[in-house]
Amino acid sequence: MSATPVGDSDMQADVIVMGSGAAGLAAAIAAREAGARVTLLEKRRSLGGTSNFIRGVFAAESEMQKQQYIAYSCDEAFRNFMEYNHWLGNARLVRALIDRSAETISWLQARGVEFTEVTINMPDAPRTYHVLKGIGRALVRALARAAREQGVDIKTSAAVVDALRGADGRLRGVRAKIAGRPVDIECRALVIAAGGYANNREWISKYTGFELGENLFPVGNAGKMGDGIRLAWGMGAGAEGMGVLHLIRIAPYGREFPLMNVVEAACIQPALWVDPEGRRFCDEGIAFYDTSTGNANTRFKRGYTWCLFDDSIKRHYIQKGVDRGMTQRLLPGHRLRDLDEVLERLLALQSPNLVAADSVEELAAKMQVEATVLSATVAEYNEACAKGRDPVFAKDPLLLRPLLGPRYYAARARTAFLGTLGGIRISAKTEAVDEFDRPVPGLYAAGNDVGGLHAESYSMRDTSGIASAFALISGRLAGENAAAYAAARQGGEG
Ligand SMILES: Cc1cc2nc3c(=O)[nH]c(=O)nc-3n(C[C@H](O)[C@H](O)[C@H](O)COP(=O)(O)OP(=O)(O)OC[C@H]3O[C@@H](n4cnc5c(N)ncnc54)[C@H](O)[C@@H]3O)c2cc1C
Repeated sequence: MSATPVGDSDMQADVIVMGSGAAGLAAAIAAREAGARVTLLEKRRSLGGTSNFIRGVFAAESEMQKQQYIAYSCDEAFRNFMEYNHWLGNARLVRALIDRSAETISWLQARGVEFTEVTINMPDAPRTYHVLKGIGRALVRALARAAREQGVDIKTSAAVVDALRGADGRLRGVRAKIAGRPVDIECRALVIAAGGYANNREWISKYTGFELGENLFPVGNAGKMGDGIRLAWGMGAGAEGMGVLHLIRIAPYGREFPLMNVVEAACIQPALWVDPEGRRFCDEGIAFYDTSTGNANTRFKRGYTWCLFDDSIKRHYIQKGVDRGMTQRLLPGHRLRDLDEVLERLLALQSPNLVAADSVEELAAKMQVEATVLSATVAEYNEACAKGRDPVFAKDPLLLRPLLGPRYYAARARTAFLGTLGGIRISAKTEAVDEFDRPVPGLYAAGNDVGGLHAESYSMRDTSGIASAFALISGRLAGENAAAYAAARQGGEG
């Protein structure tokens, strides 16, 4: 089928935006508000991609923070972020992100996005997490409405498949597939915001060494094949941050269990964790920090570790509550009142991901680990609990609770990830650049398609909510700069 020719008046824009997540929607609005004619193309039938799942957005020095005397400055956030990443990131890009974070919260509010509170979602973290009312879905709805009201042309089931170049080699448009039909659309600038490559088996294997769906599981991502990254590389952009993942450790995760149930909440607590051989492998106190738990799990190429608890620990969760929260609906201290009932229901499914036994030896058999190894692990751990001191991993004594039975439980905790965090090299102005930082004219990129922010890990500890803030802020920057570029090019063309 031949493509609709360039020149069709419906098929022209100053700026085309590829992808309708937080990055793409922010870019489209920003470009439109800067005076550009904007077309946004979204591959899927519905808008928002992974951004539909966002709960909290990072900012420092926001109005909401000031109203609550939360003193966490942009300078502190910048320093902490760069130190966490060993200064491997693009410092000017990080600075731009942090400096525009507060203003972006106000920008969102002015466009109908509501926040309920500003809080933290892990111990000892600065209060940077601006909690969305109605989670990401509401943010996507509000931004899509604002974009349409401003006159952004939004098309769904519209995948960008390639870039078109003029005789001078410069970008002159994109080839898209709209409702299955190839269409060429002319533009002066393109913002790539297609959300990474979380569902691309080949690339995950090549860049991370894990096998998708076997020992690494994507959560909240669909159809992310790296389309934007491939396009940008094809136009001469450099690569940055490939292989960096937004890792987490979740349990039990299988098709048979719904996510976010009380059993999962019990299994992410800092009880006793063992590796696939039955040995302890970390201070379980890292349970509060998703990046640390995900990273610790990646040592095991089978893609899982185990979480063990017993009746006494279970009773603790039911009567006194959990140590670690899970989303804003299940905060620390929340009592898992229906844990017994849900646990028995899930155990009845006889899944290898969740097992129970009347002795440690029997539990080991069900976990398919050596009974002597697991028994030694439990004995050593119980001794540490009795002494109130963990000589191996220095776990907080308050979290040392022995496993005494009479019933023991084990849940497989998978290595999972919420997205990929690298791909296109960009400047602090979000221009796609080659490896020597020379801009690819007319090409901008934002959100999860971009590298240069995180080193080897997602940086959440001092900047909670930074992924969504980056998507929104890099999107805004890309939209503004793409609009300015398009206007200048139009001027140049006379
Ligand atoms: C369960 C979960 C919870 C999370 N919670 C938080 C949180 O609380 N705070 C936080 O900061 N971060 C959170 N994150 C991370 C955050 O959601 C992402 O970092 C952010 O949404 C990325 O935005 P994006 O715009 O880059 O990508 P996306 O939102 O994924 O948007 C990319 C879009 O591009 C589209 N696309 C792909 N290919 C093409 C193509 N060829 N043509 C056109 N369109 C295309 C996709 O379909 C998609 O709609 C969470 C992630 C998950 C999975």
